[in-house]
Amino acid sequence: MTRRASSESTHDENLAASWQELLDRAVRLDWECRDGEALAAAEAAYEAALEAGDVAGALRASHRLALIHFNKEALAEGLKVCLRAETWLRYCQDQAAIISLQSVHGGILVALGDLETGFALLIDCQKRTKTCTDPLANWRAWTAYAVALFDSNDFDRAAEAAAESLSYAETSGLAKGSVLIARSIASRMAARALGEHRLARRDIDDVLLARTEEQLHSILTEAQAENLSYEIAECHCYLGLLAWTRGEDAVAAARYVAAIAASRVARDDVLLAETSYWYAYLLAGQGAFGEAVSLLAAIEVMEQVLAVPRMKLRHFDMRFRIAEMAGDWKAAFDYHRIYHGLVVEDCRRLASARAYTMKLALDLETMRRKEDSARLERERLLEENLRLASEQREAVLASRTDPLTGLGNRRELQLRCRDWLESGVTHAALLLVDIDHFKRINDIFSHSIGDVVLCHVAGLLGDAGQNGRLAIRMGGEEFLLLLPGTAAENAFADAERLRLLVQNHEWSQVAPKLEVTCSIGLADWSMADSLEVALQVADANLYVAKNSGRNRCVSTVA
Ligand code: GH3
Ligand code: MG
Ligand code: MG
Repeated sequence: MTRRASSESTHDENLAASWQELLDRAVRLDWECRDGEALAAAEAAYEAALEAGDVAGALRASHRLALIHFNKEALAEGLKVCLRAETWLRYCQDQAAIISLQSVHGGILVALGDLETGFALLIDCQKRTKTCTDPLANWRAWTAYAVALFDSNDFDRAAEAAAESLSYAETSGLAKGSVLIARSIASRMAARALGEHRLARRDIDDVLLARTEEQLHSILTEAQAENLSYEIAECHCYLGLLAWTRGEDAVAAARYVAAIAASRVARDDVLLAETSYWYAYLLAGQGAFGEAVSLLAAIEVMEQVLAVPRMKLRHFDMRFRIAEMAGDWKAAFDYHRIYHGLVVEDCRRLASARAYTMKLALDLETMRRKEDSARLERERLLEENLRLASEQREAVLASRTDPLTGLGNRRELQLRCRDWLESGVTHAALLLVDIDHFKRINDIFSHSIGDVVLCHVAGLLGDAGQNGRLAIRMGGEEFLLLLPGTAAENAFADAERLRLLVQNHEWSQVAPKLEVTCSIGLADWSMADSLEVALQVADANLYVAKNSGRNRCVSTVA
């Protein structure tokens, strides 16, 4: 059996449009054995899925990419694809996508000789099938397991697993095409297991043989109806193997000849070589050594076949067996030495494949770590930004507030005036409040008492500044009270009340004998005009108040 059999034509359902289209195309091209184009389409699907943020899509595209490489025996390429996709696994909740990817990943690892990791993945996939409701993905898990057993030369168990996979396919409501492929894989694996039994002169299960033959016949009929030359070639090859197993050499030979012709049509050299080996073995068994050897010699010029390590191994295995059968001990010895060298080389190849796997996994780990630290850095920057933003907010708040008295400052004045303007306020009364002889208070009672006085006056102003009014510390011992929507003449009473509040405050509690008064200059502010001009008027009135004895309110310039 060659790998192509583990492909399926059934496309994945429920995928997002654009990358699904690309993936569907890849599957179609793969089925038509147009590998290069199929790879390009699947790679584009992978990129598109990532672009769309669809992790499951990226995994599905990767499954296809890896499967195409796997079918071409390009195991290292397939492995790279799987490891690349593994990055996204932790963001994926889609069991079906995970199973699809991991089953081909496990298969590739087994084919590379890393049975331990490979079978661990495959067993994990089987566990996932318990919670996965997608029959196609589940069937992939079972099939990949069977193929992996086959690749590790455990033909009996491979046949058993393939039979289980088939019975799953038949009972799970899988698409007709997939059931057909499942039946085809199961029967080929059973045939191969039976052939190996014959080769090793072990007992043959006649019932299994008859059933397998029947299945292969029915698949062949369907393949011929659809004109699928590859399927036809495989059916002939395995029907030949079964005929040989039951001792019908003439039937077997005819099948092999048909298989070789069909695999030429399908342009599948690996299948052609596989059939030639069985045929050569049959011919050698009949004593037709010349024909057997020329079959093998024909394969020897097919470079792409011998480039596949397991095929090269099989080739020299057949070579020395047939030379032994021919009694050509010298040739048998030489071929056996080559075969033995290959086994050793194969071990090395597997070891280096293992090392390569580990290296890739390490690179990936490093990449992940970098990604993690980049993520942490991003999170740190985000936190830093949030902190700066809140600091900025506090700074803005602080910049609007006078730190000593807690009243708003000139900036607050600006902002509040803008708000008023926006909400349609057209005029306001200004009360410019200045503490009388404050310098003296500082001088007699100390600067810190002066500060306390400022705070008390600010408190009185703050109370007056509630209910839509605004109290501001303009600087030093000068304050401003704004009464929006009020005319200065109507604000005079407010100014008087404030002046008396300051005068009558319990100042002796701040310092014995402390007395504090203030003068107030009033002005009208028509808010269409500049605040500064209105303030100058208030200041002029304040000046009048100071000059006319302090502790008084003045609302118009004399
Ligand atoms: P007038 O009645 O004419 O307003 O006299 P005055 O002494 O109140 O006015 P003047 O402008 O001569 O003095 C203001 C003083 O206020 C001078 C300055 O040292 C003091 N002063 C300004 N800011 C503060 C402050 O934050 N704390 C204290 N304790 N004193 C301040
Ligand atoms: Mg003063
Ligand atoms: Mg002053």
